[in-house]
Amino acid sequence: MESFFVRNARAFVGVFFVVLLSGCLQSTDEGHRHQITFDRDTLPVVVLGGGVAGLTAAIYLAQANIPVTIIEGPKPGGALSQSQGVRNWPGQYNVPGADIVQKIKEHALACGVQIVQARITAASLLQNPFIFDLESMSDGKKSTVKAASCIIAVGTEPNLLEVPGEQGEGGYWGRGVSNCAVCDGFFFKGKQVMVVGGGDSAVEEASYLANLASTVTLVIRKDTFRAKDVKARDRLVARPNVKVMFDSSIKEIIGDGKKVTGVRVNNSKTGEQQTVATDGVFLAIGSRPNTDLFKGQLDFDSRGFIVLKNHQATSVAGVFAAGDVSDPLFVQAITAAGDGCRAALQAKKYLEEVGYKMQAGALEKGDESARVWQKDVPRGVVEIESEQQFKDVVANAQTPVFLDMYASWCFPCKRMMPIVEKLAKAFEGKVIFAKVNVANKAMDIERLNPMIHGRAVYSVPTFILIKDGKEVKRIEGSRDYEVLKKAIETSFGDSKNLAFVR
Ligand code: NDP
Repeated sequence: MESFFVRNARAFVGVFFVVLLSGCLQSTDEGHRHQITFDRDTLPVVVLGGGVAGLTAAIYLAQANIPVTIIEGPKPGGALSQSQGVRNWPGQYNVPGADIVQKIKEHALACGVQIVQARITAASLLQNPFIFDLESMSDGKKSTVKAASCIIAVGTEPNLLEVPGEQGEGGYWGRGVSNCAVCDGFFFKGKQVMVVGGGDSAVEEASYLANLASTVTLVIRKDTFRAKDVKARDRLVARPNVKVMFDSSIKEIIGDGKKVTGVRVNNSKTGEQQTVATDGVFLAIGSRPNTDLFKGQLDFDSRGFIVLKNHQATSVAGVFAAGDVSDPLFVQAITAAGDGCRAALQAKKYLEEVGYKMQAGALEKGDESARVWQKDVPRGVVEIESEQQFKDVVANAQTPVFLDMYASWCFPCKRMMPIVEKLAKAFEGKVIFAKVNVANKAMDIERLNPMIHGRAVYSVPTFILIKDGKEVKRIEGSRDYEVLKKAIETSFGDSKNLAFVR
């Protein structure tokens, strides 16, 4: 059966590559590969991950006239989009990471790169073509993609403290606990926050928060910082509202059932435990590579990073890796971009060696569905621009309301907008869809939630379901279309008919 993905990709690829139906096995011996048999559904290359490394790789491939598809997972833009002030990206001083990523993304799309928003649920790299199972981020549809080569640029996943009160049932994730100051710091204006960790990320997060919060306390488990950027570290600790607790570990996050109110901290030198009041806890305690999908198929180091053989080549011929997933050492946006470039040139060479021929000719543009992230104002979703409008459209509505609390700077929020727009179409006439940009200075966000008898919002995106003027359900963080659809159906009435709707 031909998958949705292959149909799209084939339309994109058009007639620009010729498939060789001859040949047999591949050799891993560099430079002496046998040609491989590819069927028509096999793409030349897929790039897994839409951060700086993946986007740069895709640009180079597209420039070489190789049709390329990026599978962009749940965190579009990757780690760089969380950085508020990047000072080491050549050509620009102190620029938000999200802006850099946005420009690279626009560049990639202009080159004809196709971007598919999907979660990779399985990867099979032990035979060529490689096979990837995907689940669409917008509607949960499953599909499969086959590719002659691939570039893994899926980055890393932030570590958690794994202490009571952090996540799960009764935990305060999204209600005061976060790992993204750029996304959620806004909600802690004038409040007390803690940043856990002593690395460069912790320094960045704390520096950002120090502009907003009344106090920022760094909680560092050793008696030293690990951060390499000593200038940034020194600037941070010199700020009057920044304190540092060395030799300290958080043992529990405490709250009042709705939000964080404090933490229990242990001092490893004195053995003393104390409860410290705080409104927010930001974690910056390093990360681990997203390599579980490839376990048993590639070589990894003891920490799970992909081991590179030769200029981004992995232990499997045709599979290349780029960026943080294979770089525990430098972990810089610019090195990730360099990795992406090398991986792309290596993939091109590999395709030539195994006989995957591209015909000359300009690449066609990808289909519109791959570009939905670019549209900022979805149809059918009302942008709330004033408190009066909030009262009229949301608080006093006779019809159930699905409210999207987003922020203009938040990348995951941008990715959710097409999903919210699609929901608005699915429930047209039955549910009102509205969105509020929490950064909109025309409104005092703290005055909105009491109007719907709801709690304060501490993270974006947050989706609030409102019935008869009252909050009935809240969903914090990105979700798939199907999950949100189900939440609407169960919160607002009969799953088929939404019979209560007036
Ligand atoms: P790091 O691994 O460098 O630092 C992690 C910090 O968290 C350390 O202080 C570590 O303590 C602490 N930690 C780890 N686990 C726990 C835990 N369970 N409980 C409490 N504390 C914990 O991670 P970063 O994310 O900060 O940086 C990763 C890489 O990215 C680095 O190479 C860094 O230089 C780079 N980077 C560069 C930036 C820039 O150039 N602007 C910005 C951000 C990151 P300990 O020291 O005791 O292990």
